[in-house]
Amino acid sequence: MSAIPMRNGKRVYEHYSPKIADEQWDVIVIGSGMGGMSCSTALSKYGKKVLLLEQHYVPGGFTHMFGRKGYQWDVGVHVMGEMTPGEIPYKMLHWLTNGEVTMNSLGDPFDSFYFPHGYTFHMPEGSQKLIASFKAQFPNEADKLDKYVSLVKKADIVSKSFFLFQTFPLWLEKILSKIWYSISPNYWAMTTEEVITSFNFSKDLKLALTSHWGYYGSVPKESSFGVHALTHTHFWNGARYPQGGAKVFAEAMLSNVLKAGGKILTKASVKEVIVDNGTAVGVRMDDGREFKSKYVVSTAGAKTTVNRLVPEPFRQSDWAKKIRSISDSPPYLCLNLAFKGDIKAAGARSGNMWLYTVEHNDQCLWNISDPNERAHLLYVSFPSLKDPHHDAGPEQMHTGECVTFVDWKDFAKWEHTEFGEREPDYEALKKSIEARMLAELNLRIPEIMKHLEFCELSTPLTAAHYARASQGAIYGLGATPQRFTCEELRVRTPIKNFYMGGVDVATLGVISGMTSGILAATAIDKRAYLRLL
Ligand SMILES: Cc1cc2nc3c(=O)[nH]c(=O)nc-3n(C[C@H](O)[C@H](O)[C@H](O)COP(=O)(O)OP(=O)(O)OC[C@H]3O[C@@H](n4cnc5c(N)ncnc54)[C@H](O)[C@@H]3O)c2cc1C
Repeated sequence: MSAIPMRNGKRVYEHYSPKIADEQWDVIVIGSGMGGMSCSTALSKYGKKVLLLEQHYVPGGFTHMFGRKGYQWDVGVHVMGEMTPGEIPYKMLHWLTNGEVTMNSLGDPFDSFYFPHGYTFHMPEGSQKLIASFKAQFPNEADKLDKYVSLVKKADIVSKSFFLFQTFPLWLEKILSKIWYSISPNYWAMTTEEVITSFNFSKDLKLALTSHWGYYGSVPKESSFGVHALTHTHFWNGARYPQGGAKVFAEAMLSNVLKAGGKILTKASVKEVIVDNGTAVGVRMDDGREFKSKYVVSTAGAKTTVNRLVPEPFRQSDWAKKIRSISDSPPYLCLNLAFKGDIKAAGARSGNMWLYTVEHNDQCLWNISDPNERAHLLYVSFPSLKDPHHDAGPEQMHTGECVTFVDWKDFAKWEHTEFGEREPDYEALKKSIEARMLAELNLRIPEIMKHLEFCELSTPLTAAHYARASQGAIYGLGATPQRFTCEELRVRTPIKNFYMGGVDVATLGVISGMTSGILAATAIDKRAYLRLL
């Protein structure tokens, strides 16, 4: 099986070449992550001829896969929630992928959390089971738990209007938000810490209710309670993983783009959006070639868009400055692990493991410049065990991924160096990080690690290179109140016929990327609103 998205034995994309014929496009979409694929697919389904441009050599953004020596890893998909029939994201994905993608449950529990003082808890599939499990563990706090769950449910309902508001003209959004948040609290504007502290939970219950912060990348004192609450409810019907790995999204979705006369070009780096008299009319590629269209959508990330893709006067506008002032989500390390043998018998499973070395959720980044500091959190996942159709072969080949968060400053000095040609000091740093992560894994999951064949570390520079992630950020912009209350961060931009999609105009994660694509599509074809219901 190949890591390349294919259809009937052929790639669903082609590499950019200056010889590509001139055509008039309805829409040009920049960036082929989940946001770009979803926007392109939705508009193609409504009859638009779309040109999807991706700078990497495969489409998919953080949903692309890569292979080494017969093994394959996803870059940015471990779990997806809201994937049971009847839930809106499930219906969206079903529509975009023509019902071709099967999402398999990670089982029960889908997440397990381990703390150094011995406290461990597991996330069962289903909110009722989850609440019952917490009540059994913390019987004296059952009333508080009930109140907390009611608040999360309320926050979930209230906060979802945010997505719709993103698509309206700013003047309308301002009026609607004012009315909406005068009748209900604005949970986006509160920090998780503020809300959690008001319940006065015991230490371990607080840990249990906040330890999934890694799914949105901001610790409770920094994160918006809106995103915290939506992450709870996102997984209330359990977690799922795509059969065949994340590349199946590109395979199924992009076939719609081709069918409608569109094109997907990889190795196609956009230099800038061409703006004529305040209106976007196309894009200019890095080599100077121009493509013309009625509409342009950037899903390349809000910071990339305002820093690199819009013409100079817009880069200096208040709109760009406000977006630029929002901090990024944390950069990340991922140790990609290749195993041989029966890792299941050794304790690996389809559910994810969260290995903490601290007993609190106040620390976001592992300070790698302190040689004595252990990684505070290692998130470990075994993708091959999540896919019942994975063919492990006679040697039982399996994969694992181990993710943690680090500081960009430790990698910034190599920012402008070329991939594959970095100085020996970078390689030495990689080796030392790899050794430290392996030492921790050998300590925490020794039986599984006995099966390790080899591993490969990706650093924030890897994400910056392959996905043009701003400072190697894992989830785009940081999940803070500042980000979610920023009026400039929205589908519509000051440039006519130029829109933004991608996680930065929604929340974060694959489902959010998909939703963002539909949100951007509504600006071009109102029928896309139907998909949000
Ligand atoms: C390690 C990791 C683990 C994750 N795990 C999960 C998970 O388990 N569940 C979950 O829901 N989410 C997870 N995520 C997050 C999720 O994958 C992303 O939030 C989501 O896929 C982002 O989609 P996007 O379309 O907004 O952006 P991206 O996927 O980043 O796509 C943007 C694209 O734009 C392209 N681009 C940028 N500039 C240009 C240019 N000038 N010209 C052409 N193309 C350009 C980039 O190359 C990129 O392909 C994870 C992410 C990471 C990194």
